[in-house]
Amino acid sequence: MFGKRIPLFKLFGFTVRIDLSWLIIAVLITWSLAKSLFPRYFTGFSNRIYWWMGIAGAVGLFVSIIFHEFCHSLVARKFGMQMKGITLFIFGGVAEMESDPESPKAEFLMAVAGPVSSIFLGIVLYFIHMAGQNIGWSKPLNGVLQYLMIINFILAGFNLLPAFPLDGGRVLRSILWGVKGNLRWATRVASDLGSAIGIFLIVFGILNFIAGAFIGGIWYLLIGLFIRSASQMSYKQLLIRNVLGGEEIQRFMKTDPITVSPSMSIEQIVNDYFYKYHYKMFPVINGDSIIGCITSKEVRELPKEQWEQYSVRDVMSRCSDENVISPKTDALQALSIMNRTGNSRLMIVDNNQLLGIITLKDMLKFFAIKMDLEAD
Ligand SMILES: [Zn+2]
Repeated sequence: MFGKRIPLFKLFGFTVRIDLSWLIIAVLITWSLAKSLFPRYFTGFSNRIYWWMGIAGAVGLFVSIIFHEFCHSLVARKFGMQMKGITLFIFGGVAEMESDPESPKAEFLMAVAGPVSSIFLGIVLYFIHMAGQNIGWSKPLNGVLQYLMIINFILAGFNLLPAFPLDGGRVLRSILWGVKGNLRWATRVASDLGSAIGIFLIVFGILNFIAGAFIGGIWYLLIGLFIRSASQMSYKQLLIRNVLGGEEIQRFMKTDPITVSPSMSIEQIVNDYFYKYHYKMFPVINGDSIIGCITSKEVRELPKEQWEQYSVRDVMSRCSDENVISPKTDALQALSIMNRTGNSRLMIVDNNQLLGIITLKDMLKFFAIKMDLEAD
């Protein structure tokens, strides 16, 4: 979902970015406004006018979403939550929090800020639209204002669905959290409800599609899929943060890893190491200091005929912050390095000395066992 993000501008210290998917949506919105919605409700204009109305409507929607997300971010900052910025993606905006809110009250106020701001903007637009009609502004302009008023109310309504991580789901979570004092339980209930609403929308979308309402059906289907996966993902993320956060990586490491020397030929390490131990990565040790690692991926990229001529030194990866971490690194940070680089194995090194290896598999095993022993 989150592909390439382009920074647009900075406001009050927040960077507003746009996901490439939003550009596609912006074109689709402009097109459906100009070709379908506006001609249906406001008759008698030229094609050119409808296109201008479509562009104005899409830009207005964009501004409305940014306003909504800004209100979230400003309240969040008041409560001391770190915000990375705001990204507009396929179904609207996401105010990116770096951490969980510290109290139910903080989360409640932060979550309601968005829908409240959208309702406020809708009411303001209502008065501007009314004034415009009385003064006799041009009909296309009044049409766009009316559309933007309605879309802000829809934005508020959609976000108030009690489907975590939508705003309404966050409101629900904060209330449950406040009542029972258990963030994990509150997140589970709110995200289960989110999944259920997602499934409902998927089924509703499919039924619409079968009944012949193709465009509407696809929209419901997509929104349902989005809500379902977002709610499941945010619960998993919370669990992982709870279980692995604050754990030093040395707790999970395997000590005494099998190592190779830089002068060995590729042929030799394939036969004597890869085929013998079935690991996908071997640290390379020169004397007694670590100089890099060799992975099955690097071997695979070398044609088999050349395995004899080349040595480990020629194809290995040097130590870098992509494959080496210190023993005191937080497990969550190790996970984010693995996530970013695609390396599921990292070497734990202190003062050029190899202490051990950490694999994604070991971390997940620890996670599973801890969940099993401490589940409530
Ligand atoms: Zn919101």
